[in-house]
Amino acid sequence: MLRTRAGGVTCKNMIQTETQKSVDCPCGCERKVSKLSGQIKMDNSVPYYSAFLMNDGNGPNLWVMLHTGSWEPYKEDCAIIIQSIKEKEGLRSYLSDQNESPWKNQDIEGLHFLSRDEVLAQKGGKEWVFEIHDYFVENQNEVAKFVQ
Ligand SMILES: [Zn+2]
Repeated sequence: MLRTRAGGVTCKNMIQTETQKSVDCPCGCERKVSKLSGQIKMDNSVPYYSAFLMNDGNGPNLWVMLHTGSWEPYKEDCAIIIQSIKEKEGLRSYLSDQNESPWKNQDIEGLHFLSRDEVLAQKGGKEWVFEIHDYFVENQNEVAKFVQ
């Protein structure tokens, strides 16, 4: 079931961060970056998340993968990728395809990475994704500090 901000659902979400590691930057620049993972406890679902806090010298470049469960018409679990770049006006976030992301070489069994077009094709899909994403960015301490 999709929920949208327009539906007026009260947020009682909670973010549980399970791992926080320093890893090689997935872009190949040889910097170390933080990689976080855990879950976001929503009212009706518990998406898992994974995030890379990258900065190749042009400011914060945040990548979040939300592992959301099944998403029609796919029977298998699905994942959605969002990139956020810090600009003068603030943080700008975009849906991203897997092949443009730090997860481009990951083939995870039983997990379908939704393309940007697949998310946009679902009524209310984009709103649902960004409701979770924006909540995560504002309320996960490390991420909120990173994009400030
Ligand atoms: Zn890099």
